[in-house]
Amino acid sequence: MAEAALCWCGVIAVGRCTDCGRAFCTSHQAAENQAIGWHSPPSWVLLPMCIDCRARQRAQADQAQRAAVVAQQAVRAARADAARLFVEAMLAAGSPGISS
Ligand SMILES: [Zn+2]
Ligand SMILES: [Zn+2]
Repeated sequence: MAEAALCWCGVIAVGRCTDCGRAFCTSHQAAENQAIGWHSPPSWVLLPMCIDCRARQRAQADQAQRAAVVAQQAVRAARADAARLFVEAMLAAGSPGISS
């Protein structure tokens, strides 16, 4: 009989992380409070990964989201700049009908 895999804390493991491959016990398995269906209230869903990898994944997602927000702000600022420059150029060209 094969020896049961142990979690890094020494407790018998219930699964293996799909990310780092480590075995995890019930208290070191990642779980997430999420809604399964449209009508059902959020409930704890066990994930096939360890809590460390889940934490890292979450940190990476947060970072990506922050980067996306910064990029969005940059695009918005660039658009506002372009619009202003366009109006300025039209005014400089003596275009009638445009007022700043
Ligand atoms: Zn892991
Ligand atoms: Zn454990």
